[in-house]
Amino acid sequence: MASSSSTPLPNGPLKIAIIGFGPFAQFLAQTFLKQGHILAATSRSDYSLLCSQLGITFYRDMDDLMEAGIQVILLCTSILSSGDVIRSIPIDRLRMPLLFVDVLSVKEYPRELLLRVLPEEADVLCTHPMFGPESGKEGWNGLPLVYEKVRIRDHALCDNYLGVFQAEGCRMVEMSCQEHDEMAAKSQFLAHTLGRILAEMGIESTPMDTKGFQTLLQLRDNTMKDSFDLYCGLFARNKFARQELEKLDLAFKSVREKLLERTKDLELD
Ligand code: NAP
Repeated sequence: MASSSSTPLPNGPLKIAIIGFGPFAQFLAQTFLKQGHILAATSRSDYSLLCSQLGITFYRDMDDLMEAGIQVILLCTSILSSGDVIRSIPIDRLRMPLLFVDVLSVKEYPRELLLRVLPEEADVLCTHPMFGPESGKEGWNGLPLVYEKVRIRDHALCDNYLGVFQAEGCRMVEMSCQEHDEMAAKSQFLAHTLGRILAEMGIESTPMDTKGFQTLLQLRDNTMKDSFDLYCGLFARNKFARQELEKLDLAFKSVREKLLERTKDLELD
């Protein structure tokens, strides 16, 4: 759990509507609530009971959510469903000014989508908190928030939103969505792929695990906590990911060949 002390709000509470109230949104909501922000949510599934326990207004109907006087819409759906979800937002009922934020683990895709679908008057902030329910359970201090201010006119509102993460001690990393995707393919996507390969192999702890092997078990466990949809999204909606998958394949073949070549003539002593 993130630390339970509440942070004073110099600019008053933000009214944030979350679209997609799955595991990651629920994790973020804990900290937003702790800081005193006012939350509303909608999702494909019915989270009305959970939301009422948390003090969040849950809307089954997105039209009603648009009437709720919100300042920030936070898109937290799976990467693969986000296109359909964004297109299903009743745009004509949006009340401006409004800040649209997404948290998708890929960035160029939602950037282009939001710019294409949203009205010109809506501000757009693309973010990727580089942590989740597992890595952020002890708090967010020092954990990176990557973001690009894609189209911002209401700078105060945008800064207030980013201030939520600053107040928790996040490392604020401003970079373009393209830079993010290039780096994420070489790091996050690679880590998820290796974690899933290890799970596929069925690796198990032994009574003599080395530190290195424990790291592999940890990677497998962390990776498998995320949905397969999330992994598919990291691949399908990041144009740099396919190249990394091919590099991994080639690297495996190269290591295998070198190993077999070097050892092929060794006789048993
Ligand atoms: P996820 O499996 O990527 O997404 C689950 C969410 O997507 C739920 O709200 C779910 O709605 C919604 N959803 C899935 N399919 C849908 C569909 N066909 N139509 C409408 N909604 C659909 O799991 P997650 O971990 O909660 O991630 C949410 C977002 O946060 C993703 O974009 C992910 O890239 C990003 N993110 C995750 C992490 C992390 O550590 N998990 C970290 C940073 C960013 P229902 O629950 O209502 O079914």
